[in-house]
Amino acid sequence: MRCPKCGSRDDKVIDSRQSRDGSSIRRRRECLKCKYRYTTYEEIERSDLRVVKRDRTHEPFDRRKLAGSIAKAFEKRSTSLLTLEDMVEEIVHELETSGREVPSSAIGVKVLEKLRAIDEVAYLRYASVYQRFQDVDEFVDAIHTLGRHVKPNALQRELFAPEAPPGSTPAPRKISTNKHHGRV
Ligand SMILES: [Zn+2]
Repeated sequence: MRCPKCGSRDDKVIDSRQSRDGSSIRRRRECLKCKYRYTTYEEIERSDLRVVKRDRTHEPFDRRKLAGSIAKAFEKRSTSLLTLEDMVEEIVHELETSGREVPSSAIGVKVLEKLRAIDEVAYLRYASVYQRFQDVDEFVDAIHTLGRHVKPNALQRELFAPEAPPGSTPAPRKISTNKHHGRV
């Protein structure tokens, strides 16, 4: 570090302490030549992660947007905010360590993996709203796979007719394909 007073490049650190949230370190330095004391701050370089969207355009990664979309999937579920925060933290960390550019679909898949382990209803909500599946069959397959673990009626109400009172006949499916008929 160059001394702001005399311009010498020789200094020693006489004190160093972390900020309360651990995001930066403050160092007191002393110039070896003129004994002038000054302070420097060291902090984590802001992430310059970029998201490559489906249409090939790029945009800066937005952590709040990610957290918001996950929170929406958890709406009225019993999952704690802490779990949610941890999940966002984990995803951001994994994305940041895997490169500077990440396809939006890769983020979606990561979120889905984590949601699935925590809350299957939240998983399906996220899948249906935020993950535009390549084709509808893929979505139906995902529901079939989950159907083995989740009560089909609960799922159907949750996904396709949230307004239907419990015990009523589930509303007709909003998603239909030629290949798949019948109940999920
Ligand atoms: Zn100096």
